[in-house]
Amino acid sequence: MAAFPAEQPSSLLIICRAPSKAADKEKRYRMKRFLKEFKEFALRGNVMDMAVGIIIGGAFSGIVASLTDNFINPILNELTGNAVYTKTEVLGFVSAFLSSVVNFIIMAFILFCLVKAINKLMSLGKKKEEPAAPTTKLCPYCKSEIPIDATRCAHCTSILEEKHD
Ligand SMILES: [Zn+2]
Repeated sequence: MAAFPAEQPSSLLIICRAPSKAADKEKRYRMKRFLKEFKEFALRGNVMDMAVGIIIGGAFSGIVASLTDNFINPILNELTGNAVYTKTEVLGFVSAFLSSVVNFIIMAFILFCLVKAINKLMSLGKKKEEPAAPTTKLCPYCKSEIPIDATRCAHCTSILEEKHD
C-alpha cells in the first residue's frame, strides 16, 4: 500500500514527458528555420526598396491631388468666373494643402526611421549569423542534439545511417 502510490506518479510523469519534449525541440527547430527564411526574404534590399517606393508614391499622390483640389482648381474657377471664393474658403484651401504636405513629411519621417531600424537589424543579423555554422544535428530516433558527424547516437545508442541530401 505504501510503495505503490509513491512510485507510480513519478515514472508516469517521465514516460509522458519524454516524447513531448523531443517534439517541442523539433517544433522549435522548424520555427527557427522558418523565421530565418522569412528574415532573409524580407530584408533583401530590393523588397525593401520596392515597399519604400510604393509607400512614398502613395503619399506623394496625396500631395498632387491636394495641389489640384486646393490650388489649381480654385484658381481656374476664379479665372473663368465659375466661382468667387471668400477669405475663409481661401484659408481653408491653404490649410488643407499644408496639412497634406505635413502628412507627407510625417510619413516620410516614419519610413526613414523604419528603414534605419531595419538596416541596423540587418547588420546585427549578419554579425550574429556568420560564426553559427551547424555543429549539431537531431538524432532521428530520439530527437536529441548530437554532433553533426556522429555515426552513433550518444543518447539512445542507435546507429545512424549516413544520409546524403
Ligand atoms: Zn538518439
